[in-house]
Amino acid sequence: MNNDHLKVWDACLKVIKDNLPLQAFKTWFEPIVPVRLDNYAMTLQVPSHFFYEWLEENYIDLLRKVIKKELGAEGRLEYSIVMENNTTKSTPYTVKLPALNKKSLKNQPVNMPLNISENQIRNPFIIPGLKKVNVESNLNPAYSFENFVEGDCNRLARASGYAVANKPGGTAFNPLLIYGGVGLGKTHLAHSIGIAIKNQFPNKTVLYVGSEKFAHQFIDAIKNNTTADFIHFYQMIDVLIMDDVQFFAGKEKTQDVFFHIFNHLHQNGKQIILTSDKPPVEMQGMEQRLLSRFKWGLSADLSTPDLETRIAILEKKMYGNGIELPSDVVEYLAYSINTNIREMEGALTSLLAQASLNKKSISLDLARQMVDKFVKNTAREVSIEYIQKVVSDYFDLPVEMLKSKTRKREVVQARQISMYFSKRMTKSSLANIGAHCGGKDHATVLHACRTVMNLSETDKQFRGYLEDLEKKLTLQ
Ligand code: ADP
Ligand code: MG
Repeated sequence: MNNDHLKVWDACLKVIKDNLPLQAFKTWFEPIVPVRLDNYAMTLQVPSHFFYEWLEENYIDLLRKVIKKELGAEGRLEYSIVMENNTTKSTPYTVKLPALNKKSLKNQPVNMPLNISENQIRNPFIIPGLKKVNVESNLNPAYSFENFVEGDCNRLARASGYAVANKPGGTAFNPLLIYGGVGLGKTHLAHSIGIAIKNQFPNKTVLYVGSEKFAHQFIDAIKNNTTADFIHFYQMIDVLIMDDVQFFAGKEKTQDVFFHIFNHLHQNGKQIILTSDKPPVEMQGMEQRLLSRFKWGLSADLSTPDLETRIAILEKKMYGNGIELPSDVVEYLAYSINTNIREMEGALTSLLAQASLNKKSISLDLARQMVDKFVKNTAREVSIEYIQKVVSDYFDLPVEMLKSKTRKREVVQARQISMYFSKRMTKSSLANIGAHCGGKDHATVLHACRTVMNLSETDKQFRGYLEDLEKKLTLQ
């Protein structure tokens, strides 16, 4: 009785598998865990909200059919979302938060003129002379939470952004500082928070501004003798999103004015969201007092997404654009561009443009040419992950095997070949290659490379494998 859900789901999977391309089945159905069956309601555990949405958007008809087939007309489907239980409930954060230090705030002089009524303030975003203060949030609707794919690389940042969006100014995450390398989603996430706040609290004044723009506005204000207006305008905002604060480095005056605005907002319970390409400890040329403010709330980082997340991001973007790509193309993009999401998207866009301009179909070859042409520096460097994928496909082995410790003959050979190509074609160290290939040490990798070279000299069939693989890997 207790195993009913397993049996039923197994039966469902059989039908689903027959009706889907293998890759789609692997991507979207293998990760599902059936958890229970109560009263004709089957509960499926899925890894993320996005996953659930994807199933509902793309496979609901198929799911409905198989559930009805197995459970009869009353059959129903429910989902349990693993990650979300961990991240969006009350206090899931394991990060220590520094206590809010209101006392020291009070000691900071905020010596700004306070006797101008709001409708006289000049809005630095609009043409001078216009009286009405009408704050345009500058938010890009495409950068919503819905479009922001969750992964290990962004879980804390996303969850804290979510918390802030639900209670702007009312959490310990003030300021919320999101930091991470180029193209990893800081701007996107910052917009998501702003959009979610606007949706839930339409009366709040939300403002997104890039630090560079802020600095220019400030310089203009000095020129035009309107700094008081400038400061007042910013002090009026309920939710201030300041993107790329690292730009303030070395700009003392701008830091100074931002410091006062920051204090005013913070003291008044207004939410501040900052992004930066570095964590506060590494921000040079930033005044100490400002840095210490940045550390008051929560600093959350965005790191490089893993392969699954990269694929999910690509799928999301494709879905958003209403397009479909062969899964080998998507995988190729995700495998070969592994540091910067913006570049990955850029390659996707160029690919679509190329394909539609030249009326070519989007093939793996076209994808390779595109990546070669448009992706900085990655031109000839393939990743270990990609090599493993090509090699395991070639020998028709699951790629996990290469990463495992299995000592089966065929696997050992494929693994050694992957190590050999990784050494030749990537800049990875022997130790790093070993770590990717079943946790081997550098000596094992070296040994593998020698074995492969020896075999290629003595064994004709083996040499054939290497030549085939080399062709596949060197993109022609
Ligand atoms: P940053 O500001 O860190 O340089 P962006 O926010 O501009 O990076 O992100 C670069 C691109 O990558 C954007 O188009 C963004 O939509 C996309 N992107 C980044 N992270 C994600 C994610 N988790 N899900 C979906 N798209 C993402
Ligand atoms: Mg940015």
